[in-house]
Amino acid sequence: MRRFPLHLQILAGMGLGLVGGLLLNLAGSQGLLDRHDVLFAGAVGEWVGKVFLALLNMVVVPLVASSIVSSFTGLGGQGGMGRIGARIGGYYLLTSVLAIATGILLVNLIRPGEGVDYASLMEAARGELASREIHPPDVDATAGVGVGQIVADIVLRTIPPNVIDAARSNTTILSVLFFSVVFGASAVATGGDALKRVDELSAAVYAVMTTMTNGILHLAPLGISGYVFFVTSTTGVSLAVVLFWYMVTVALGLVVHACVTLPALLRLVGGRSPIAYLQEVREALLTAFSTASSAGTLPLTLRSVQRAGVPEHVATFALPLGATVNMDGTALYEVVAVLFISQMLGDLSLGQQVVVAFTALLASVGAAGIPHAGLVMMVVVMQAVGLPTDAVLVILAVDRVLDMGRTTVNVWSDMVGAALVARFEERPAAAGEVA
Ligand code: ASP
Repeated sequence: MRRFPLHLQILAGMGLGLVGGLLLNLAGSQGLLDRHDVLFAGAVGEWVGKVFLALLNMVVVPLVASSIVSSFTGLGGQGGMGRIGARIGGYYLLTSVLAIATGILLVNLIRPGEGVDYASLMEAARGELASREIHPPDVDATAGVGVGQIVADIVLRTIPPNVIDAARSNTTILSVLFFSVVFGASAVATGGDALKRVDELSAAVYAVMTTMTNGILHLAPLGISGYVFFVTSTTGVSLAVVLFWYMVTVALGLVVHACVTLPALLRLVGGRSPIAYLQEVREALLTAFSTASSAGTLPLTLRSVQRAGVPEHVATFALPLGATVNMDGTALYEVVAVLFISQMLGDLSLGQQVVVAFTALLASVGAAGIPHAGLVMMVVVMQAVGLPTDAVLVILAVDRVLDMGRTTVNVWSDMVGAALVARFEERPAAAGEVA
């Protein structure tokens, strides 16, 4: 019997989670079920999702480290990592700037904050957060952090003072990446038997981690349905009505960036059919959407682009870097959210909007690839233009849904970047390639 394809299994899981979650939400709002029971059922769904995400996260560090070292040693130092790094870095900067420009344009055209009363929105938001037992994020960690400090921190976060410590958290992939590159380069410089053994070992570990990823992927339909069930059963609609235009602005910006800007680059510069490429990488995108974690999705991102013909040495370098520093969706979301808040409190001048754009870019680079990281980093942007930091509370209740969208765009942009760089590297014939 032919197996039901995985992406269809995932879509079926999403559908079940969606319908079940909406029914539960309705039953709760109509008083047919106790609010605590609804929250409890949602928490069970979230737990199922978290188990899946934890399994993916478990793979990340050894997968990233072994793949980078093996790319280096396998190529005997001929990999041109510097060249790939410069190209992918240029792409990451360009697409983040384009995303920010899209966000600024739309938020100034739609003006979602106009006519919304800040004080009553804050009161409604506090009520909603309390009734859903949502605890505000710890913005104290980012409060008081200046722009200069973000840059300084990024450099310090790249160099691990202790490599075992760095490997303990998936929010520090950047330092795992840095150590692996230096380790691989040093192995090549050492040469001889040491190089041969490191090459064999890293290639073997990479092969095992890939098998492990493929195994975990079978749980994707279940994990994803759990997350979708959690979000749909617990997200209230009352605030979403007030924040409707804000949500529309973020969503529209994400759609323009994901469906117009990035496909145009993929077609014109990468020489590939966006539709064919999308088909190859859809499992990674569905996982990014439901887990809201680009770091957790990394094993699938790496697997998908290689299946689409991106050479291993490009994918293994560009994607872990992208999962940490390239967040187009987050950058776009930050400018829309901050300008939305400023529209309620008194508009920002053009000069201040430029400051918002610049700090949003840095904040997106500094944000970790985990759920809600963008919201926490937004505090830095708000401080840069003197907005009250507790204003993040007004958008917190609808953040998960927007996070799902921006994470998908973050991951899509990374995968498009890998395809673009691959075009300039030697590689076999690839899926969706336009002659
Ligand atoms: N959740 C996003 C990601 O993992 C980051 C964010 O909160 O914007 O890419």
